[in-house]
Amino acid sequence: MRSFRISISDKNKHVNIQLTSAATMEVIPSNKGGQKMLLDGYMYTNKSTRKNHIWWSCVQGRSLHYKRSLKTSLAMDTLVSGASHNHDPDRASVCVTKAKANLKSLAAQTREKPGHLFAQTLADLPNDAKLRLGKQDTVKKMIRRTRGGRHPPVPDSFDDLTIDGEWAQTIQDEPETFVIYDNGPDTNARIIVFVSAPAIRLLASANTWFVDGTFAMAPRGFMQLYVISVSLGNTAVSTVYAVLCRPTWNCSRQ
Ligand SMILES: [Zn+2]
Repeated sequence: MRSFRISISDKNKHVNIQLTSAATMEVIPSNKGGQKMLLDGYMYTNKSTRKNHIWWSCVQGRSLHYKRSLKTSLAMDTLVSGASHNHDPDRASVCVTKAKANLKSLAAQTREKPGHLFAQTLADLPNDAKLRLGKQDTVKKMIRRTRGGRHPPVPDSFDDLTIDGEWAQTIQDEPETFVIYDNGPDTNARIIVFVSAPAIRLLASANTWFVDGTFAMAPRGFMQLYVISVSLGNTAVSTVYAVLCRPTWNCSRQ
């Protein structure tokens, strides 16, 4: 790759930074709520913002060389000066950091399944960076954590529990009703039933329904999760989910 060297005078001392012709400055959010600057295989964190410029420090070289490794304009779009590094660039690490930031933004903005987001991200990474993305389970946890922040708070009591808007709909391009029954907060035996339109069609066409009430998987505050499944080919699919705050026998009249 063609490269060029720029030399900038900074307080009587020359600092050099060698850039490839394709080098562009890229700013992404950091884990700590700040920013990271990616430039030509090197990664920098925002060190200090001054009146007319920002100082960045090289992440990899934190203990290896001068703290103020890069100086940019306040808009973070113009390089003012850069110190040379005493180590090689780490392009794979930059790729992974960028992919993770992108993954987090997709996690927050879409309802795409975590497994699918992981597979898509992995496929887009160059081979030498794939191994550094992390295990699927770890990445999926990160996605769930990112999404957790968007969830409504867990209510203290059933009186405060309402399921509405997107939370009462299915996850798809054109969401459909998912909560088909909720006897509301003014009851001492709350039941909420979730079922989609395609699942109702499966139920209607099935000869046999399998009904299972489990206590262990009930969401917090509820006593029982009730699931109705039907056969589909060689397997069974869950169609209706009901959460109950009393055991089935106490709710049967509802
Ligand atoms: Zn460095």
